[in-house]
Amino acid sequence: MAEPKCPECKTVGLEHIVSKESDEKSQGGDPWFDVVHCDECGHVYGVFAKITHQPRLKLQM
Ligand SMILES: [Zn+2]
Repeated sequence: MAEPKCPECKTVGLEHIVSKESDEKSQGGDPWFDVVHCDECGHVYGVFAKITHQPRLKLQM
């Protein structure tokens, strides 16, 4: 399995990919998102909605 590499600082390794909770919070104090970023340079890989805080989705397929 290939190790992920940061495109910014070239740091290799899954341990350097960390997530933190977003600053945006619901009224109940729950963060809306997890922000996944490089712990070396701060490059953001992506933002993911927290699964524990599910909005009411209406799926139409
Ligand atoms: Zn980096």
